[in-house]
Amino acid sequence: MNCKMCEMEKNIKDDPYFIMELETGYVVLGWFQRFKGYTLFICKEHGPELHNLELSFKIKHLEEMSIVAEAVSNMFKPDKMNYELLGNGCPHIHWHLYPRVKGDTPIISSVYQLSNEELFDESTRPDEEQRKELKEKIKNEIMRIR
Ligand SMILES: [Zn+2]
Repeated sequence: MNCKMCEMEKNIKDDPYFIMELETGYVVLGWFQRFKGYTLFICKEHGPELHNLELSFKIKHLEEMSIVAEAVSNMFKPDKMNYELLGNGCPHIHWHLYPRVKGDTPIISSVYQLSNEELFDESTRPDEEQRKELKEKIKNEIMRIR
């Protein structure tokens, strides 16, 4: 199987962006922090669509995704959380959880109005110390509210 997310999950605990494992997925810090607190939640099951997941797993997955988003929201105090399940590029459920604040994009809309150059701007990649701090914050808050 040639899936980026399945490949990543094989050694996810060694990934420098890995935050923690939940029952149905893995919490991973966003590689770029153009939107501070940007976090991913990657499903343990391969597949593109929520509706194909077994019902109890699906409900648990949605609950856990919501907990991750809540933790990010509590820590970064955005005006609004964005929950994005796209999967056009990689057919494996992975949530992009973006804390959004007023004025963070030119138009009040999705983050994808920004060019890839801006979304993946190397200057927004957290260094080791920042990464550690962000990961701890998110992890501790997930543990607290779970
Ligand atoms: Zn996969």
